[in-house]
Amino acid sequence: MRNQIQWKGPSGRVAVFWSLVVLLAGGLAGCGGAEPGAESSERSGPLSVVATTGMIGDTAARIAGEHAEVTALMGPGIDPHLYKASEGDVRRLTQADLILYNGLHLEGKMGDVLVKLARQRPVVAVSETIPEDRLREPPEFLGQYDPHVWFDVSLWVETLGPIAEALTEVDPAHAEDYAANAQALRQELLALDQWVVDRIAEIPQEGRILVTAHDAFGYFGQRYGVEVVGIQGISTLAEAGLQDMERVVDLIVDREVKALFVESSVPRRAVEAVQAAVRERDREVAIGGELFSDAMGAAGTEEGTYPGMVRHNVDTIVEALK
Ligand SMILES: [Zn+2]
Repeated sequence: MRNQIQWKGPSGRVAVFWSLVVLLAGGLAGCGGAEPGAESSERSGPLSVVATTGMIGDTAARIAGEHAEVTALMGPGIDPHLYKASEGDVRRLTQADLILYNGLHLEGKMGDVLVKLARQRPVVAVSETIPEDRLREPPEFLGQYDPHVWFDVSLWVETLGPIAEALTEVDPAHAEDYAANAQALRQELLALDQWVVDRIAEIPQEGRILVTAHDAFGYFGQRYGVEVVGIQGISTLAEAGLQDMERVVDLIVDREVKALFVESSVPRRAVEAVQAAVRERDREVAIGGELFSDAMGAAGTEEGTYPGMVRHNVDTIVEALK
């Protein structure tokens, strides 16, 4: 426990988060003594890093390079809002040298597990390292920040330094590699961010409306100048109601929206119901394709990486709307 109190987070906010976790854990456990078997500074073999989402896992793997084996718990098609840790996950998490999660309530059903784990090992919420003034606080999400930060590539860049520093904390011997890998990835992602800007410019201004299954694309819309409409809210925990459907159908008809999009991690039924309701009003709206919103594509495919997922989504959106 004492080691953890002295752990200096990659940023002030992480350090604050960490101290809170330690305080909380100390309070719950009712003990302040050092844990037996605390990790020694010498280590052999690669680190074990466990991430919740694929986006975090892919990013951490790029920064860690050969020095870590990174596992992401949530594979293709998995909805992080609803995800509960399995027994196997808990085993993996308790054996990890470092745990990375999104935070901002994305992993809504893993909160307790993560708090417990944080008593024993470094647990870092990567999105909670982003400066608060860059986070969206949508009125309908009642005082909470929108967790879907990876859709603004320039914002996701903000997580690279903290991930590198978290790796360095557990493995200081490879600090230079982590910093260099993070820097290289930063350059790649800044170029990707510009590519998205250029690609979206191919859609005529009046056609830049993105209708999706749930409200995941707020940061995307804000960064790249696209009006975003989700049939469900920010979290998929709340089902879409009749009013939500009618609001979206009206908008599609009034604004002559050409296409709407399904998401790989959300059931298609709400999107298909909207499409059918539009048809009843003698209008056609296409399903423009499937977007990887809260989960990446299959491992080994282009969409199974963070940059590839971004490119897939943007290509799909631009081809359907331009
Ligand atoms: Zn979501």
